[in-house]
Amino acid sequence: MEFLRFDDASFEAALERIVARGEEPPAGVEDVVGEIIARVRQEGDRALFDYTVRFDGLDLSAATVEVSAEELEEALAEIDDDSRAALQLAADRIEAFHRKQKQESWLSTDEPDMLLGQLVRPLDRVGIYVPGGKASYPSSVLMNALPAKVAGVGEIVMVVPMPKGEINPHVLAAARLAGVDRVFKIGGAQAVAALAFGTESVPRVDKITGPGNIYVATAKKQVFGQVDIDMIAGPSEILVINDGSGDPRHVAADLLSQAEHDELAASILVTTDGAFAAAVKEALAEQLTVLPRREIAERSLANYGAIVVAADLDEAITFSNRIAPEHLELAVADPFAVLPSIRHAGAIFMGHHTPEAAGDYLAGPNHTLPTGGTARFFSPLGVDDFVKKSSLISLSREGLQRIGPAVVTLAELEGLAAHGRSVSIRIDK
Ligand code: NAD
Repeated sequence: MEFLRFDDASFEAALERIVARGEEPPAGVEDVVGEIIARVRQEGDRALFDYTVRFDGLDLSAATVEVSAEELEEALAEIDDDSRAALQLAADRIEAFHRKQKQESWLSTDEPDMLLGQLVRPLDRVGIYVPGGKASYPSSVLMNALPAKVAGVGEIVMVVPMPKGEINPHVLAAARLAGVDRVFKIGGAQAVAALAFGTESVPRVDKITGPGNIYVATAKKQVFGQVDIDMIAGPSEILVINDGSGDPRHVAADLLSQAEHDELAASILVTTDGAFAAAVKEALAEQLTVLPRREIAERSLANYGAIVVAADLDEAITFSNRIAPEHLELAVADPFAVLPSIRHAGAIFMGHHTPEAAGDYLAGPNHTLPTGGTARFFSPLGVDDFVKKSSLISLSREGLQRIGPAVVTLAELEGLAAHGRSVSIRIDK
């Protein structure tokens, strides 16, 4: 864990190392993924099933690649009552939040001789990638499927690898709760390729969303254009701004909740109070000893953890805006006073009683957020990601008569005579 001050000679280098982590896939991954995609595109199911045996140790056929509706139903019935209730609460809250995002089509009749508008239409079919290699993420199912459902997507297809045929029943239960239409037992770059191009068993989709490891992320990047994708997600990060108020043990717990994700996760505290910084460092060491994922968290903190002492809140805020963190906690006495100065963040957690984990699971907003500084221009996953818009133009004879001469003038200006003629042929000279 780095202990930094802005005026340290090594500050910029340390920061650059944290910000640039995980930007490039390890050597060879692009080529491996390119080959997998090309083979699945050419050979369909045959290549898909070959790779599933090789990477997941699971021998599939057209008859077994899909999870049946009964299996989904059974999974929901089998999980324990507390899990089912928590998943249901999460689903209800996430759905209610995303309903507020829904945009309606609109028509404008400001001018009597024409009608202009925008039609908002859901995508026909989307594919949701749910990671399943090293761990299982039912929350990812809800966070991806529910905005699609609220948008009115025609068919939601989910893929999830099942190493050696094993699946966490909570993932299937979440799929059933969220109204996923079809679930396939496939993962990795081969699943992304199957969704992008279609195979005999897997239908081709219009957009692929959802997190995954470097093979999945690289595959999504490579099929972009053939289909849409949500975003190129990098390793996760949290930045906590603190003014010396609150409990250092709480801040330490929040930093660890990020660090336990994976070794590339970054956890940064910027505080105006040197004593608070020291107390957080102490609390981190203490809480690490009882953490089941201690090794991962320790490595993450050692590689990409930092405690920065700022001269004042303004300096802390400027620093945060520069990082544009995925998760930003305002662990300060008056977070609403700080909020207007925050320019870039994927999600903002306000005050001492709003830990990031509440947002990760079920406050309501989406947990799929822009990482690696891309909060400068990307937004959280939401209903907008599952709709597209068409412009609508309807002119009456009078409308065309009124604006037509200017169209002819502009067409002539650009040397596109046929454009001009398509208008002049219709209007009175
Ligand atoms: P995964 O489903 O992403 O990947 C498993 C697949 O990777 C396998 O099915 C296999 O096809 C492929 N693969 C593995 N080794 C390969 C190799 N050598 N060559 C080609 N393909 C190979 O599951 P995972 O590995 O557990 O990774 C999950 C990732 O998702 C983690 O990085 C985790 O941090 C991330 N995640 C992010 C969020 C978020 O919201 N940002 C949420 C959950 C998970």
